[in-house]
Amino acid sequence: MSGQSSSIRSRTIAAMIAGITTLIVGAFVVSACGRTGIDSAGAFGAPGQNTSTTVVETTTLPPTTLPPTTTTTTAAWPKGPVLTIPAAGAVPVISTIATADPVVFLTIDDGNVRDPRVPELLAQFKVPATLFLNQGPFLTDPDYFFRVSASGGTINSHTKSHTQLTRLSAASQRNEICGMRDIIGQHMFVPGHLFRAPYGVSNGATQTAAGSCGINAVLYWHAALNDGRIQYQQGNQLQPGDIILTHFRSDLYDNIRALLWQCALQGLTIAPIEDYLPLPAGG
Ligand SMILES: [Zn+2]
Repeated sequence: MSGQSSSIRSRTIAAMIAGITTLIVGAFVVSACGRTGIDSAGAFGAPGQNTSTTVVETTTLPPTTLPPTTTTTTAAWPKGPVLTIPAAGAVPVISTIATADPVVFLTIDDGNVRDPRVPELLAQFKVPATLFLNQGPFLTDPDYFFRVSASGGTINSHTKSHTQLTRLSAASQRNEICGMRDIIGQHMFVPGHLFRAPYGVSNGATQTAAGSCGINAVLYWHAALNDGRIQYQQGNQLQPGDIILTHFRSDLYDNIRALLWQCALQGLTIAPIEDYLPLPAGG
């Protein structure tokens, strides 16, 4: 797509959503993986601590309709840079992908509410979703999560019991992290090779435990979706390479709709994060 047509498309979409009220409601503090979870771990940064961070919420409510599917078709481009991760040892902690490609990544956690509209919406827009699930919700309905991840997504460990890992021994952390990956593997042909720590809290033992069972990154996030709105950690729009956190809750359909509109406005594609974080050769 040429820059000119892209610009025209962006203006057209902007016109379509003109009249939407945008309010900057100011700074507030949220806790990681809570109702409005934001974690402050940086890309390739230090292991996350039990943190909260100050963010600015841009309360842009999207239209109650969906954007045209033509605005979110998957584009093809030389993807990169692709992160090379060692095949063994402590894996990195990542909250955004360092790329200039016009892509963002959707991640959905926990699994407690299973809205039947969500897999239909993701299929309609061909959106890959990277899921981080716990044992109880996953085993309640594995087929539902398979359908949610069917557009190029994956199902990954979020621990078995959604416990705070930093309170556990290294062996117990490994049981939580790798045990959940094993459970996924019993139901899916290939379990995902990423991991998210509950509450955005991890330490070096977490990274080592994850690396011991075929996981190659601990994933945090750089923007969140709650109550049908996008919450940015930086600025008032998505950044290329942003990892976006949301949850299987009653607001998930509205959250994805908000993300689709924002991606259409900014000319971004929701891409498979595994394209940028592949398994090491032979991994
Ligand atoms: Zn969680």
